[in-house]
Amino acid sequence: MILPAQADKLIARHLRDFPVERVALTDASGLVLREDIFADRDLPAFDKSTMDGIAVCLASWEHGTRKFVLEGVQPAGQKAPRLKRNDGCFEIMTGAMLPEGCDCVVPIERVRIENGHAVIASDAALSRGQFMVRQAADHKKGERLLAKGIRMLPPHTAVAASVGKSRVLVTRKIKVAVIATGNELVNIARQKIAPHQIRLSNSYALLSLLKRAGIFESELFHIKDDPKALRSRLNKILKGFDVLVLSGGVSMGKFDYVPSVLKDLGVRVAFHKIAQRPGKPFWFGTSRKRQPVFALPGNPVSTLVCAYRYVVPHLLRAAGVKVLHPDSAALAKTLRVAPPLVKFLPVKFDPRTQGAVRAVGYSGSGDYVSLAQADGFVELLPGRTYRQNERVKFFRWTI
Ligand code: AMP
Ligand code: MG
Repeated sequence: MILPAQADKLIARHLRDFPVERVALTDASGLVLREDIFADRDLPAFDKSTMDGIAVCLASWEHGTRKFVLEGVQPAGQKAPRLKRNDGCFEIMTGAMLPEGCDCVVPIERVRIENGHAVIASDAALSRGQFMVRQAADHKKGERLLAKGIRMLPPHTAVAASVGKSRVLVTRKIKVAVIATGNELVNIARQKIAPHQIRLSNSYALLSLLKRAGIFESELFHIKDDPKALRSRLNKILKGFDVLVLSGGVSMGKFDYVPSVLKDLGVRVAFHKIAQRPGKPFWFGTSRKRQPVFALPGNPVSTLVCAYRYVVPHLLRAAGVKVLHPDSAALAKTLRVAPPLVKFLPVKFDPRTQGAVRAVGYSGSGDYVSLAQADGFVELLPGRTYRQNERVKFFRWTI
């Protein structure tokens, strides 16, 4: 049986980059940028005041001028006027272009304005370039400001907007079919439920996770444990989606038809089973058209763990995300992991141990309620003893 790291390699090898499209900047929030973005002019584009005050020529101050003649007012959004006299000045506003001939801004708090003059406080110390930023001080025209592969968060949107990118190249939203299998599963809207029935809770957890990730468009399906129904419906779904995420029906039970039906449909298995708990029966393959098909075990904890640990990170990478920041967390307590399986353990931050995590009470892969008390889960290797405060891979719910 393969280990999680080998599963990662196999999935990565089978995934192709998802296609791009150009969208309005307002629609790009959270999506993956697929083009570099450059400065279309110097940043700042002109010598700019960073204070409300007066703009003067420093040389004049150095020659002893303390009382400057007001030549005008320079607000933001106006071309630079030219200073006419050596002992002249302009009242200047934050963000305004510096008048030609000025190289120094004195904040208004240090100035007294009186009948056509500005008098600078006698104890003020002035230096060239103070309270202003020079043209191109931050970036030169043509410099790369954003690299492809980032997800468009608000600061990135600000940069793109500032250089006039009203449309940007991003990964097109990825269409994911979330498919629950099982005769016992019923719609969550149903209030009357028989003892032998289960509401399809996993599927909603998956939808919620995909929505959080921000780059997917997902749709929910439910198929009975019937090979014919599975075959015809999966065949249809394969025509309309980029990715399939199934849950249930991949174990060794009599009614676990998912692997054989997928095979019949031409979906080639890359692996079945990973040496891990929970989530051992995880199945992964690709269709003839190279769509990835993730078939997760139906146990609610297994489903979520596999989705967080494999499905979403790999899809993000295929969507062009360059750097995925693997989280880590320190363990609040020494932990020994019995062989032979990698262990995914639900944990929560412990307020008494300054950000270290500890296991939540958890009775196994059916105990999905304990996940709701956790902040995520850690990945632990079999046969190892982890020391207190040792850092381990951490997958948190808030991706
Ligand atoms: P399976 O992987 O099909 O053997 O399912 C394992 C367990 O997970 C069974 O107890 C199922 O009832 C349960 N299960 C499967 N799919 C779901 C689902 N979508 N939501 C909640 N529980 C599920
Ligand atoms: Mg089942």
